[in-house]
Amino acid sequence: PVTSEDALDEGELAVEGALRPATLAEFVGQHKVRGQLQLLLDAARIQQRPADHILLAGPPGLGKTTLAMIVAQESERPLRLSSGPAIQHAGDLAALLSSLTPGEVLFIDEIHRMARSAEEMLYLAMEDFRIDIMVGKGAGATSIPLDLAPFTLVGATTRSGLLPNPLRDRFGFTAHLEYYESGELERVVERSAAVLGVALGAEQRAEIARRSRGTPRIANRLLRRVRDYALVHAGGAAAEVREVRAALELYDVDEIGLDRLDRAVLEALVRRFRGGPVGLSTLAVAVGEEPDTVESVVEPYLVRIGFMGRTPRGRVATPEAYAHLGVAHADGTLK
Ligand code: ADP
Repeated sequence: PVTSEDALDEGELAVEGALRPATLAEFVGQHKVRGQLQLLLDAARIQQRPADHILLAGPPGLGKTTLAMIVAQESERPLRLSSGPAIQHAGDLAALLSSLTPGEVLFIDEIHRMARSAEEMLYLAMEDFRIDIMVGKGAGATSIPLDLAPFTLVGATTRSGLLPNPLRDRFGFTAHLEYYESGELERVVERSAAVLGVALGAEQRAEIARRSRGTPRIANRLLRRVRDYALVHAGGAAAEVREVRAALELYDVDEIGLDRLDRAVLEALVRRFRGGPVGLSTLAVAVGEEPDTVESVVEPYLVRIGFMGRTPRGRVATPEAYAHLGVAHADGTLK
């Protein structure tokens, strides 16, 4: 499903590319993951072999694609980009794998959405750099083994729980990317502002960081909207904090960074379902979204900031969620 976050036009995609850090050293935050990746890449370099396969898990916009690019860049190997939805048959994967050059880094985004038949082919490919190609049908069918060039697979997923265990087990390393702290997002904004040539003070950077939902992609997007606002209303000069706020409010981002869909989910949970518990699919229908989007994009952040709980009986709103919406709790108090 396409979320508002993915709906970037080509111009924005080009800007997003320009804002991507190119080395591990430039990559902000995620200290642990960076250290782990560095070790993996250094070991591969010493032994002059492709790095082990890497799985990157976490919500959209936290840097999975960027890290895949950095892995290729730092190991000086070419990078091939693909995605789960583009691999709908084992044949699609066979064509992709057999065209890789030795040591190439293959990035498969949304790897949990790959066809099942392709998944099974991938097991053997990851383990032995070999696939079996089926020719013919019925009793006369035979499989022809095909050797592949050794490669490094970098898989990305917003839903690591959906990956079958045999696939998960074949990655040498799984990195779980976490939402970023405010200070880290301020550094992302500072770096991006320099790239875009936007002059911004510390206070303005902090305001953007605070409203970025813990997500660098959102920080960069809000920065571009603030740049637009400054261009139109202040002749491009450094925006005042109140202008930063005005720009972000124009785009439906509230003071803690929740967007339209986040608030729709919270409103439904609190008002319509009286705080829950309510099942995921019922909640998704109430806001007119795919359950997958609600579960992998909206909920992780609401859970992380303590606005929503996931219980065996369904989703529940916390007193903090009531307070944020300014709704009185069932017992009559405004918690
Ligand atoms: P994902 O693949 O997880 O959806 P991306 O790698 O496409 O996320 O990152 C989205 C944007 O956020 C990119 O333009 C990138 O510049 C920026 N970004 C992500 N992580 C970082 C980081 N740690 N430091 C600086 N910029 C980042």
